[in-house]
Amino acid sequence: MKIVIIGNNVSGTFTAQNIRFLNEEAEIEIITQEKYPYYTRVNLPELISEKVTIDNLIVFKEDWYKNKRIELNLNTRVEKINPKTKTLIIDSIDNPIYYDKLVLALGSTPNIPPIKNAVKLKDEKKGVFTLRSINDCLEIKDFIRKENAKKAIVIGGGLLGLELANQIKNSDLDTTVVEFFPRLLPRQLDLECGTMLKEEIESKGIKVVLGATTEEILGNGSVTGIRLKGGEEIDADIVLIQAGIRPTINLAKDANLVTNKGIVVNEYLETSEKDIFAVGDCIEYNDQIWGIIPACMEQSKIVAASVVGMKKIEYKGTTPKNTLKILGLELTSIGIIDPSREEISGGWEILKKADKKDCCYKKLILKDSKLKGAILFGDTKAISYVYSKMEQEVDGTELRKLLELYIYICKNCGKEYDEAIMEVLFKDLPDNFKCPNCNGPKEDFKQRE
Ligand SMILES: Cc1cc2nc3c(=O)[nH]c(=O)nc-3n(C[C@H](O)[C@H](O)[C@H](O)COP(=O)(O)OP(=O)(O)OC[C@H]3O[C@@H](n4cnc5c(N)ncnc54)[C@H](O)[C@@H]3O)c2cc1C
Repeated sequence: MKIVIIGNNVSGTFTAQNIRFLNEEAEIEIITQEKYPYYTRVNLPELISEKVTIDNLIVFKEDWYKNKRIELNLNTRVEKINPKTKTLIIDSIDNPIYYDKLVLALGSTPNIPPIKNAVKLKDEKKGVFTLRSINDCLEIKDFIRKENAKKAIVIGGGLLGLELANQIKNSDLDTTVVEFFPRLLPRQLDLECGTMLKEEIESKGIKVVLGATTEEILGNGSVTGIRLKGGEEIDADIVLIQAGIRPTINLAKDANLVTNKGIVVNEYLETSEKDIFAVGDCIEYNDQIWGIIPACMEQSKIVAASVVGMKKIEYKGTTPKNTLKILGLELTSIGIIDPSREEISGGWEILKKADKKDCCYKKLILKDSKLKGAILFGDTKAISYVYSKMEQEVDGTELRKLLELYIYICKNCGKEYDEAIMEVLFKDLPDNFKCPNCNGPKEDFKQRE
């Protein structure tokens, strides 16, 4: 059996590894247009500021593939899939490549919002960039050096936008993040934590402009700045767009596979075409796309089993998990973080500790006593507990302990001040705080054991 995988990042590589684990005999071939064997994209922004080297990013060297008897074809772009003849057309090879089973691990590309001049200046390499690959990093670095760029704008205040802004700032550029939504990390944080994060980002010397729609990138020969809706202009020598992803679907679409936002797959990661499977950033399952490594890893096990005819586990989706990787800023967001965005049918409970003075925010979201999501900012000690208890029933007292949330009781009348549901921590209440029931002083409240 010959299994061909297109794409060699986390999804393609782990699918190959998992297939080899399940089947010693199969012929496995990976085809990728990239120049390097599997490397992590996670630390790409640090390549720009030279905190890492290309070698540091490569996860598996070519020997790894040889040892696993996986044939790796770098610098090779698949132009066409012909499902009828089970063949692939490659740009540089005369004869088509035959497959018995085909896995599409095509990934995604950066989304470019409809901004006047963005695509043109990017294609002409005149100061507009997106970041997805090692090559993108090298081009950005090269441009900054050659053009002696001093001012940068990052369009997109999501995780990747902020991590990129941080490394651009570390490369000594005056850096501004421009975000369309009224807060940073709109998909991972609620308003309160988003506001705390903004202050922390700004304290690192990065400017943040929220609720701003970029209408045009300015500059004839080369970038000179951007114009926002409303007319405000911000100067820049380089503009980096980091505004979400688009699953790569063209190859599948041209071969008449069912596609929507992504390549549509079922619970076994089978596409609409027999013997063609898809995995990772390029897929759409249950109307959802993921774009995160944990989803790729989970899917690569399921797809490998399907390919070798051992369909057992069904894919049920992956809980979104995200961590901001900026030195000195600990932030993790997992699962549902704002139940008001869900269809509220009762049963939701939120335990929250917002310590603005110490810049620490912890929020746990429960439904019918099951842990559904969390935001941990400034203090992520609870992270392993949260990961291990997701979707399980949790004990309220245990959670309070974990978040260091206390109940204070007025010794005069028994009135409770429960930090888990109040906006302000007891220690942050003003000295002249009075018991709302008996008007007794703050000192008369004692922490419940
Ligand atoms: C800067 C950055 C930081 C990130 N940080 C995190 C993080 O901290 N945590 C996290 O969970 N996720 C992170 N991600 C997202 C994560 O990297 C992706 O989810 C992951 O790379 C997806 O893997 P994939 O194998 O599905 O697709 P991709 O990584 O996109 O790989 C697909 C490969 O297929 C190749 N290909 C496509 N079409 C063809 C063709 N026709 N012929 C040949 N080859 C083709 C592409 O060139 C590409 O190399 C980050 C992404 C970026 C860009």
